[in-house]
Amino acid sequence: MDHDFLADHASSGEQEERQISRLLNGLSIMAALFLAGIGTKAWYADHPVHAWVLWLFVVPVVFNMVWYAWKRDRVVQKAGLLITVGLLFTYLLASGGEGNTGPLWFYVFPPLLFYLTSLKGGTAILLFCYLLAIIVFQFPWLPFVTAEYSTDFKIRFFATLTFESIFCFVLEAGRLRARNRLLALAKTHERAARTDELTGLANRREMQNRLDTEFSRFKRAGHHFSVVLIDLDLFKRINDDFGHDAGDLVLRQFADLTRTVVRQSDLAARWGGEEFLLLLPDTTLLQALALAERLRAEVASTAFRHQKQKLPVTISAGVCSISKADSVNDLLKQVDIQLYNAKGRGRNRIAPRVRSQEVISPSDTSA
Ligand code: GH3
Ligand code: MG
Ligand code: MG
Repeated sequence: MDHDFLADHASSGEQEERQISRLLNGLSIMAALFLAGIGTKAWYADHPVHAWVLWLFVVPVVFNMVWYAWKRDRVVQKAGLLITVGLLFTYLLASGGEGNTGPLWFYVFPPLLFYLTSLKGGTAILLFCYLLAIIVFQFPWLPFVTAEYSTDFKIRFFATLTFESIFCFVLEAGRLRARNRLLALAKTHERAARTDELTGLANRREMQNRLDTEFSRFKRAGHHFSVVLIDLDLFKRINDDFGHDAGDLVLRQFADLTRTVVRQSDLAARWGGEEFLLLLPDTTLLQALALAERLRAEVASTAFRHQKQKLPVTISAGVCSISKADSVNDLLKQVDIQLYNAKGRGRNRIAPRVRSQEVISPSDTSA
């Protein structure tokens, strides 16, 4: 079951990543259009160098989109866009863009950064960008720096960007916390929806699902499976003689015992009240009978106790293989008849009855 939870968890993460990729594609298209448009505007404003640089930036943006469409590598897609945008903003800061308005684009960076990377990674990249901004502001004589900013502008730029960054960090941390809490909650509810509360075994609904899955596997690929329907003998008497708590204790202890007998790939479920169903994939009738017999003997020889009183616990079980049925319902009907037969023959028994020699032979595959 845990495996399914992990798979679900992975698929919700995958869904989120897919959403991010779609968003990045949209942003990339927008960025390409903006770059082309603002480049054209710069061209007509008689800033040909600025225009060409902006137009050139369209190339890596489009290349990144094409590369992603081809390779579907999300890490490269993210990194490609972040590096391009980082370089572009640094250029805008160093050149001032048009009328020294280039640095305004920097405000787009913090929310994008925290959304695309982790809190730690985002902070690291942001600090690196701060360093770049400081270099541009403090060393205007560097060859690639052509813009000059007033001291007031620099102070205001850093102050507002810092406010924005902290705000983005806090919001993103809150978003992540809420998201993780929701995921954990969903996981707990999902587990509860499939599990029997008293015994911790699978519940009827989970078993029904697995039976359907196993049946389609059988239809598709011929994988046999068997089921064992177990009923605790004269359980009402245990409740009546020793109390309901004693009855509950027996159900739990029986469930623990069952867990030790079945394989990892088997599924044990509480089918109802004091009835349990085992689903045994890739198991023939004879192998299933052997397992049921082992469980019966184990229960009969185990001392069930409640407040130092010894409780008389035995089980009866019916066994059936899918090769003897033509639907899940038919299988359940037949296994119920077998359980009834076991009860009729005096309880503490398994049905159908087979010669002990047959049960021992593991090489038999006549399911
Ligand atoms: P048989 O050998 O024919 O199966 O006899 P039985 O007494 O086991 O069968 P019956 O169906 O008459 O009684 C089943 C009892 O199981 C009745 C019900 O009160 C009890 N039971 C069902 N669920 C629970 C539970 O969760 N806890 C406890 N303590 N008892 C339960
Ligand atoms: Mg019963
Ligand atoms: Mg019973």
